[in-house]
Formats: sequence, C-alpha cells, structure tokens
Amino acid sequence: MLDLATPKDMRAWSRAERARGQRLGFVPTMGALHEGHLRLVDRAKERTDRVVLSVFVNPLQFGPKEDFTKYPRDLARDRTLAAERGVDCLFVPALEAVYPQEPLVRIAPGPMADTLEGAARPGHFAGVLTVVSKLFHMVEPDVALFGRKDFQQVMLVRRMVTDLDFGLEIDIAPTVRELDGLALSSRNGYLDADQRRAALALSRALRAVEQAWRSGEADPKALQRRGMEVLNAPGVRPGYLELVDEQLRPVARADARTVVVIAAHVGATRLIDNVVLGEGVAGDIAVRT
Ligand code: AMP
Repeated sequence: MLDLATPKDMRAWSRAERARGQRLGFVPTMGALHEGHLRLVDRAKERTDRVVLSVFVNPLQFGPKEDFTKYPRDLARDRTLAAERGVDCLFVPALEAVYPQEPLVRIAPGPMADTLEGAARPGHFAGVLTVVSKLFHMVEPDVALFGRKDFQQVMLVRRMVTDLDFGLEIDIAPTVRELDGLALSSRNGYLDADQRRAALALSRALRAVEQAWRSGEADPKALQRRGMEVLNAPGVRPGYLELVDEQLRPVARADARTVVVIAAHVGATRLIDNVVLGEGVAGDIAVRT
C-alpha cells in the first residue's frame, strides 16, 4: 500500500493512474476505521481498479463544543486495516497541508443543511462539503463512496456534485451494524457498557417505526409517535425522529422510499441512524465485531 501525505503527491499519483486507464475509487474517512469503512473499501474494489482511502479529521466540521480534539485517532491501526483490506493508496494529509491558511471561500450547502443534523450542528455541513470538495480536487476520483449511515451528509454530497458539476459518481453503501442492531460508528468507542446497551434504543426505534408502517400505518405523525415511545428509553436523550424524502423534506405520507432519520445523545455522545422503510433494518449489513 502506498502512503501519501501531500495533496501534490496525491494528485500526481491519481493522474498517473488515470492516464494508464485505471478507474479510481475514493473512500474519505476521519479514521478510527471499522467494518463500516472497510465495506466501502470492498465496494470500491468491486467497482474500480485503484482504491484511495483518506484519513483526515476535519476541524471545519466540528462545533466549538464538539469532540475535535478527543476524536479517536489511531493511524497505525488504520494503516494495518487498510492494507489488509487491499487499499492501494492511503492518503493522510496533515492539517497544514489541507488548510495552509484559513479558507475564506467555502461551500454553502443550502436549505438541505438547515434541518436535522444541520439544525443541531450549525456550520457542520458547510465544513463537511468544503473538505469533501477539497479532497475531491486532490484525489480526482471516478467514484467516491459514502455510507447511508450518514444519510443527510451523503444526500448533500450528491447534490453538491450535481449542482457544481464535479463530474464524478457518488456511490451509496448500506449501513453496517452490529448483530444486535447498533450502527457502527467511530464514536461508539466513547460508550461504556451501560451506554452501549442504551444506544440500542436508536435501532429499536427504527424497527418499531418500520413494523408499524408494514402493519399499514402511513401517517408520519403516528409513526413518529411510535418511534419516540421506543427512543425515549432510560439513558437516552432523544434529538429527533423524522420521516423524510431524499431531499430531507418531511413526507406527507410514508412509503417504501421514505427514510426514518433519528438522532439521540447517550451520555455526551451524539449518535445518528436511519432506515429506508422499504428496505428495513434487516436490509442493512449485520456483522460480528
Ligand atoms: P467517518 O469516518 O465517520 O467520517 O465516515 C467515513 C465514511 O464511512 C462515511 O461515508 C460514512 O457514512 C461511512 N460510515 C461510517 N459508519 C458507517 C456504517 N456503520 N455503515 C456504513 N458506512 C459508514
């Protein structure tokens, strides 16, 4: 596996590979790799000839009271996992390489970023889209792969790529979960054993909504009430539970394409999850970790 650290080297390698006719797949991450990230690598390997995985914890997307400094970092472990999984190029740019000066020009994500995570985390998606567009310019991939786990994020990235003509494909991979339903996240490492149990309320709430919908309930308010009953569990501070379409707009009636998005705090840890009603939690990938 090739290790690259500067945008200049990254772009030179990418251009050389593409000149040789290789299609490039790109998996951007913030590291602390888990099976959710690694499934994106598998998928990239199936679809492209060369896979780049980046590790960069982006300060621009963290609020002043969020966990930028304590976000988990373990580059040695990430490198081993990436190499074992067949990543061709690991791109780990330093903070100063990505932001040699404060970026005065940033991406404005528009109204899709005003709700849900965007409402709870002002400026978050401007930070995400700004770094994602910078990484796209450094890596110049043919396909970039993102997880559905971060539903609002991937919908915004896809919209940015369309609206600003990035000329690359966004591939969306299903959410990877533990066998008991908890969606994998680098932030799960913050949870102690009791909090880990409490965190199951998120996937349980999604399942409860899904079951109610399968039994014939299509009123979003009724489905939301049903989900909230389950999310309101000891040790869990519910954030939101909403039924939305792909543009993050509330739906008037739930159907198979409706996405149930959910957020809650367990202790100090903010967790998010979602399910597409027609696919169901069982349609996601379950792994033993
Ligand atoms: P992160 O390192 O948290 O910024 O995530 C990097 C990429 O991995 C994003 O596209 C995430 O959506 C994706 N990802 C994170 N967790 C999961 C998961 N449990 N299942 C699928 N994709 C995931």
